[in-house]
Amino acid sequence: MLAALVLQFMERMPDRQAAEACSFDLRWKLALGMEADEPAFHPTSLVKFRERLLAHGLEQLGFEAVLEQMSAAGYLPKRTRQRLDSTHIIGLVSHMTRLDCVRETLRLALEDLAQIENLPRPAAWALWWERYVESRIDYKSSGDILRLKMSQAGLDARDVLNWVNGLPPEIRQGEAVRLLQRVFDENFETRHDGTVEQSRARPAGAVQNPHNPDAQWSYKSTMKNKEWVGHKVQVAETVEAAPRSTGEPTKNVITAIVTQSAPESEKAGMAAVLKEQRQLGLEKPEVIYADAGYVSGPSMAKASAEGFTLMGPALPSAKRGVYPSEAFEVNVERRSAVCPAGKTSTQCARMKAAKTGRITYRFEWVGCCDGCNLKAECLHKGERGRMLRVNEHHTFSQTRWQLMRTAEFKKDMHHRNGIEGTHSELVRGYGLRKARYRGEKKVRLQNYLIGAACNIKRWCRRVTWEAKQAMVGIESIAKPMAVPA
Ligand code: SF4
Repeated sequence: MLAALVLQFMERMPDRQAAEACSFDLRWKLALGMEADEPAFHPTSLVKFRERLLAHGLEQLGFEAVLEQMSAAGYLPKRTRQRLDSTHIIGLVSHMTRLDCVRETLRLALEDLAQIENLPRPAAWALWWERYVESRIDYKSSGDILRLKMSQAGLDARDVLNWVNGLPPEIRQGEAVRLLQRVFDENFETRHDGTVEQSRARPAGAVQNPHNPDAQWSYKSTMKNKEWVGHKVQVAETVEAAPRSTGEPTKNVITAIVTQSAPESEKAGMAAVLKEQRQLGLEKPEVIYADAGYVSGPSMAKASAEGFTLMGPALPSAKRGVYPSEAFEVNVERRSAVCPAGKTSTQCARMKAAKTGRITYRFEWVGCCDGCNLKAECLHKGERGRMLRVNEHHTFSQTRWQLMRTAEFKKDMHHRNGIEGTHSELVRGYGLRKARYRGEKKVRLQNYLIGAACNIKRWCRRVTWEAKQAMVGIESIAKPMAVPA
């Protein structure tokens, strides 16, 4: 069944078609080790098998099995250089306005509560039922009316929640009730006088559609459409050391395909990728090539402490209209910094933020700046001396900024670019861009199956090419030498 699922994703087929292929397609039968006349299964068996995988937390089983086999066959080296990048996944979810979302969540909660036998209902129940279960909103209504309906929905949601809070815990803890509480908190604020008001903006990770709360809104400044509702996936693959010859298939292996919620950061994604690779028994990579979203002083310091190099461009420091920290030569260990005029700092203070525990260093040039020619570029209006604040891992950023100016760095970073091609391969060849299922767990399973399908196809191409090369070698030996005329 697992092999049938992987083949299904390799061929981008729906369940029914995959079950038919298992019955009638001899290529599938051969691949699955079935007899030619062996009956296949009903399409719903695939659904049930996926549910069993999810129930046992075995979403990664197929992906893991393929990696193990590739490693055993010598197609996955132990210590590798890898590249990493994320791409977005559009969730299986229809667009809803905030009013739609609140009303639909109320409807789901009321219908759920209506199924509980002998539940005493409050006087307002008939009104709620009529408003949210039996009625549809007229979207041609004016903005004022729609705003009124939103306020009404907020008040009703609060009243429903107040009523449910007095009920036994098994009702209060129900999924639909918890979702209503979440949607209410994300969309409304309760004032001191008890009135309910719509909040200005929804927080990151807010529910966009109650039928798929895991599909969340996010945006990427590098994307054309910029925003999407759904999920995110981190893809890591090995990087070939030597360039390929013409027609040679790739040797690269996808080593991690980690699904995240859409607003999660790239740095959290990289930590999840490394954790998963560790769980799969893969050694830590020598180098990870990534874009600026993954690279910062702290993340480079962490990578160095863990024994690998995080290779990628470090973002410049925030612009303040005067010389940024890149213009200074800072030595955090010696607590000294040299300014663009070549003067060494006179004071250095180490500071620790009480809330976050973040450590920063503040350098000052007391009495150095009065007669300086670079004052206009270095100091803000009214400032008498320069002050520079950097984080404790500034040395890593500084070294990277210097490295970024070299030709070797630009050449080395070509290794990262191939990940865009892999994303394209996964999107066009295996349907990575759109979620087939609702809920993050199921999307995670989908992505693992896609990763497994892609690795198998790459592996097959490689084996076929190597066999062909061996044949060419034998033929060239067997062929008689051409005799010149
Ligand atoms: S203004 Fe002060 S800190 Fe800035 S370059 Fe001149 S001496 Fe150095």
